[in-house]
Amino acid sequence: MAYKAPRGTVDILPTESGKWQELEQLLRTICANYNVKEMRTPIFEHTELFNRAVGDTTDVVSKEMYTFEDKKGRSITLRPEGTAGIVRAYVENKLYGMPEKLQKVYYMGPMFRYERPQNGRQRQFHQFGVEMLGVESPYVDVECMLMAVTVVKALGLKNIQLHINSLGDQESRDAYREALQNHFQPVLNELCHDCQVRYEKNPLRILDCKVDKNHPMMQTAPKTIDYLSDNAKAHFEKVCALLDDLEIDYVVDPNLVRGLDYYSHTVFEIISDDPKLGAGSTVGGGGRYNGLVEELGGPQTPGVGFAFGMERLMIALGDDHDDDDEGLDVYIMPLGTEAKDLAMQIMTMLRANGFTCDMDQCDRGLKGQFKSADRFHAHFSMIIGEDEVQKEVVNMKCNHTKEQVEVPLENIVEFIENHYEGDHDHE
Ligand SMILES: [Zn+2]
Ligand SMILES: [Zn+2]
Repeated sequence: MAYKAPRGTVDILPTESGKWQELEQLLRTICANYNVKEMRTPIFEHTELFNRAVGDTTDVVSKEMYTFEDKKGRSITLRPEGTAGIVRAYVENKLYGMPEKLQKVYYMGPMFRYERPQNGRQRQFHQFGVEMLGVESPYVDVECMLMAVTVVKALGLKNIQLHINSLGDQESRDAYREALQNHFQPVLNELCHDCQVRYEKNPLRILDCKVDKNHPMMQTAPKTIDYLSDNAKAHFEKVCALLDDLEIDYVVDPNLVRGLDYYSHTVFEIISDDPKLGAGSTVGGGGRYNGLVEELGGPQTPGVGFAFGMERLMIALGDDHDDDDEGLDVYIMPLGTEAKDLAMQIMTMLRANGFTCDMDQCDRGLKGQFKSADRFHAHFSMIIGEDEVQKEVVNMKCNHTKEQVEVPLENIVEFIENHYEGDHDHE
């Protein structure tokens, strides 16, 4: 039988991984620029963590998790998102006690959700995210937004919009919850079964129900922004004022609630109309989550963060980037067994000297070997035939100038270095 990758997974082939590395490098560079350090957490965690952190009325937890029992009967879940694991690690490793009160970390890697695979949405997908923990300040909210905007701008995305909203603090959320229940109460029996449960447990989630999204009462539902406490209002006004000062365009979007339970105060999304992604596409988003550290057993600690789906970022990066396959320094082309023995030695020596190098392992003729040199964008083709073995030399051909020179074995490194330092104007 022939094996296939499980539905909702894809292989990233050697021809595609270069572009992934380019994206990862770009993100790491931006993180260094913002003084944000990497944190790596496990791919799987105890299921309870996600129930707690993400919320068991969310679609992610109630429908989409990869959950299984390990051999000891513990319930384990493949991480469906990155924040829960980061906050768990922050608490477990007592990072709240570090001399730097504001801990800024990023993560990137695979996440898992059991969803219907559709245009680019896979069950194993990748996220890049940033969390800033320890300081409750609108300045930090704005630093997060700036960073998210920097990412999409660095990718060259056109027509981007920053949408922001506030869900408020606990007091605001309690008032809003009551307003939502009053609003939906008269039509409760017209809503889907899930929404009946949400009505009791977390009415905010009714607003992102996919089944009832066209119900007339959705349009007229109360807006979080009208229920903000004085504190929450002041926080949000400062966020807006800072964005104004920095001349960052934004839209206050009262319908923005985000699909995860842990948010409070500021939430934001970056929307793009770039043709590569399609009009009105959400590229990524995030928000503040002041209750989450405490919820996971840590001291009361504020946090704010955002995440991007990396597959979307890959589409945004486009195909018009440089093929930054830098190419080999040397491709060695031996003819015959003795030449091959010598080639193996030279290759090892060149690699030890820091040159990128490969050789033919298929005993082909010159024509086939030259094709490989070309495919690998080799600067030099090094030809070794029987004559060369006898004379203890190699034939070095620069594939840019087409010049071919005989070089004694002991001078190879020196020759390459001189050639690279030479003033001929090819790479
Ligand atoms: Zn519903
Ligand atoms: Zn050259």
